Amino acid sequence: MNWRFALMIDPVAADEERADFGDTFTVVDAAAPALSVGELSTQRGDGVFESIGVIDAHAQEVVPHLERLAHSAQLCDLPVPHLVQWREAVDRAAAQCPAGESVIKLILSRGVEHGPTPTAWVTAAPASDFTAAREQGISVVTLDRGYDLRAGERAPWLLLGAKTLSYAVNMAALREAHRRGADDAIFLSSDGFVLEAPTASLILRFGDRFVTPAPNGGILHGTTQLSVYEHLAARGFDVGYAQVPASDLPRADAAWLVSSVRLAAPITAVDDSPLPVDHALTAELNEYLLSPRD
Ligand code: PLP
Repeated sequence: MNWRFALMIDPVAADEERADFGDTFTVVDAAAPALSVGELSTQRGDGVFESIGVIDAHAQEVVPHLERLAHSAQLCDLPVPHLVQWREAVDRAAAQCPAGESVIKLILSRGVEHGPTPTAWVTAAPASDFTAAREQGISVVTLDRGYDLRAGERAPWLLLGAKTLSYAVNMAALREAHRRGADDAIFLSSDGFVLEAPTASLILRFGDRFVTPAPNGGILHGTTQLSVYEHLAARGFDVGYAQVPASDLPRADAAWLVSSVRLAAPITAVDDSPLPVDHALTAELNEYLLSPRD
């Protein structure tokens, strides 16, 4: 199925009181050019974004995604998004999605060079088929990110905790993982701690305790990881955030990369060392993540 929907947004101030945002939206032809050549999103990757999973036309976890968009915007000194306006844009995009899995992207860019306002838009499109990653799992390699664990606090201009459009480094890490014969990568800090994957959060299981690296300014706080923790906590498991030394990775009883569209992908091997896969729990997590959630 090859369909796509795009909606340009004329962003209003975060505190503007309005009953209706209809005149701030313009549906555009998703196959036609829509951005100015002066766009700073394309020239400099200067902007922030979100990818939201959609199941049967229901956009998942919209509020956490909008909150993270606002957090990223704040870190980048971009105007804070009006949450009701963006929620309405997401609802309009979700209404265009057919049955099955889709993805909605929200983009807020610095706008056109010397221009008056940011540029903002929302797209919807079919999601890729991630059945194999969810059911058979993925192999990963560890890659040095080149920053120590405190870099995010010491140098906030690195924007490590913001979901910015500058994903060239993340894509380069994925290509390096593929060159090394793996499916994905896990970034390590230069002082030897586990961080995140280029497009996903990491969750490790040690017995009945689940651990994820603490998102203290150096990594993104994943919305999927938060959902998985809610589910695991309700099942009576112990869940927590920690500084995870890289030497803990091969000791894990199970591990997953989790993200909004691929959902929970069990890790089958780290740096060529096999990891146990908990197929039953993985299936349970994906069933939960595929159920409608607000
Ligand atoms: N970390 C990075 C660097 C990401 O790009 C993503 C998602 O794209 C995540 C973590 C997981 O975030 P979420 O679960 O909200 O999709």
